[in-house]
Amino acid sequence: MSLAERLARPEILALPPVDIAGAPLAGTIRLDANENPFGSLVAGQPAINRYPDPQPTELRRRLADLHGVAPGSLWVTRGSDDAIDLLVRAFCRAVEDSVALVEPTFAAYAQFARIQGAGVVAARLTDDLAFDADAVLATVAPARPKLLFLCTPNNPTGTPVDPADVRRIAAALPDTIVVADEAYGEFSDAPSLAAEAGLIANLVVLRTLSKAYGLAGARIGCAVADPSIIELLARVSPPYPLPGPSIAAALGALSPERMPIHAERVARILADRGRLAERLGEAAQVKRLRAGGNFLFLEVDDPDDLSRRLAAAAIRVRFRPKAAPGGVRITIGTEAENAALLAVFGLGEEARPARRAEIVRDTNETRIALAIDLDRAEPRRISSGIPFYDHMLDQVAAHGGFSLVLACQGDLATDSHHSVEDIAIVLGQGLKTALGDKAGIGRFGFALPMDETRAEVLIDLSGRPFAKFEGGFATASVGDLPTEMVPHIFRSLADSLGAAIHVRVDGDNDHHKVEGCFKAFGRALRGAIALDGSGERSLPSTKGVL
Ligand SMILES: *Cc1c(COP(=O)(O)O)cnc(C)c1O
Repeated sequence: MSLAERLARPEILALPPVDIAGAPLAGTIRLDANENPFGSLVAGQPAINRYPDPQPTELRRRLADLHGVAPGSLWVTRGSDDAIDLLVRAFCRAVEDSVALVEPTFAAYAQFARIQGAGVVAARLTDDLAFDADAVLATVAPARPKLLFLCTPNNPTGTPVDPADVRRIAAALPDTIVVADEAYGEFSDAPSLAAEAGLIANLVVLRTLSKAYGLAGARIGCAVADPSIIELLARVSPPYPLPGPSIAAALGALSPERMPIHAERVARILADRGRLAERLGEAAQVKRLRAGGNFLFLEVDDPDDLSRRLAAAAIRVRFRPKAAPGGVRITIGTEAENAALLAVFGLGEEARPARRAEIVRDTNETRIALAIDLDRAEPRRISSGIPFYDHMLDQVAAHGGFSLVLACQGDLATDSHHSVEDIAIVLGQGLKTALGDKAGIGRFGFALPMDETRAEVLIDLSGRPFAKFEGGFATASVGDLPTEMVPHIFRSLADSLGAAIHVRVDGDNDHHKVEGCFKAFGRALRGAIALDGSGERSLPSTKGVL
């Protein structure tokens, strides 16, 4: 008898599985589900006239891959909230069984337990809001709860639970399913326990796409556990829990070429969290501050006063007086949102807004994501699908002195044209967005010799697109980049960046000529986007506007 069978509600084990129309099979005529055979009346959606796959194979496999487990050890759920509910419904009988948790913590654990009529056994973090495994065991063990929820890092306090403590607790409570909720795992230094969930029979790990992956509105999460537990969750799952558009969104956001941008975003949120923690640490009202996940947990002197000032600034945060006196949880927002928050604490805005941008552009031909930061030289990670173009774009960023993360999945089997052109468009858009109001930037040019080749690029970030390319190439391509696309790239850049770009190149070696153009462009860009250092936010134009 598996652990799941031993601990499950007997009435769930006795239930026959629900009889639903299964996953769509190619080549079958579907007259089994009373769907409407005609497409929905909304454009741009997957086939939502059909019921979705109850457990979409591709998404399940992708999530399993992401967490380093076999698909059979993972169940995709409607947000990890739903996984919590499924666990409670599968294991807890009303009145007789109980759920344990470590307060202060995520409210859903107790909420779902009470809806089910199960008891709630509450241990507590220490007065310092630290996790004390022995104290938790001492409180929880005598109650023999069916489930113990450990939120790591904890919402709302940010407290991490050492994975070694989770293992030790799971070993000490063999008749309890220990649920490690890693909703904020991507923001934590601690390694995930997901890969151990199949090995430790009574360990379940919850993950979600709501926080780090920016898909809260899609409602996709998962539970990772021994297959016997997964089978039980499948039994209590509603018939078609995952909407088709959400499945499609999750697959899109998790596609491997989006991962560098995802990592960059997480890094950015963590950097902003650090900066915000440092600034708020200086505020007189803040008694204690902790950082965890994508949020801060503060304890303030006068929460009512803070609440009034936040309301006046139309900023919503979570007050958590039961977690700690004056406790308040604040999510890390965009740069402008964080600045508005700092202002409420009487901390003026930072000297200058960051010059960065993120662009996502999906069409039938290309899927491109880009992150650019003009005030940082690193990282540079470029994957256009065309190695020589990668090299050229890397030259632009390296010589331009800015960070560029760019990934494209394009229809290269047809031709490189779409990828080459669309990337130039997106790069121009990214530069334009990052430049913002263009305060403090210049017009610039750069001439560059490379052996026998001379390349010259002049840029005016005037807002008026214009492109001129003087020069030609003898060969059809350099590396895997067609040379006919080179003038085209600069035209696309000029159009989307809103710049006049003049390129002149002559020489004998096409490789040098192409590379010279991109390097000189990077150098000219470096001059054009550089801040003059005076701190003055003036525009290099007599018109006062560019
Ligand atoms: C946000 C959150 C969740 C819920 O995530 P969904 O996947 O959006 O349901 C689960 N656990 C914790 C601790 C959370 O903070």
